[in-house]
Amino acid sequence: MSSYYLKKEECIMCGLCQRKAPTCIDYDDNSIVCWKNTDQDEYLPTKEEEQPLANAAKCCPTHAIRQRKN
Ligand code: SF4
Repeated sequence: MSSYYLKKEECIMCGLCQRKAPTCIDYDDNSIVCWKNTDQDEYLPTKEEEQPLANAAKCCPTHAIRQRKN
């Protein structure tokens, strides 16, 4: 199981990722991607969230959602 982190400075506010992983991803007051349930940099998805979050990372046009390689 891998954690993910966000490169917020690369988010172009397209809104695709939350549709893919609505339990993990939200947007801040400036419409920039953030985690839905934590302010921490890294997010470890639950087993059920793994595939949706992987799909969100894959669909991001700027690769702002990144998997931490262990
Ligand atoms: S898909 Fe990428 S660019 Fe689009 S809102 Fe999500 S993090 Fe930002």
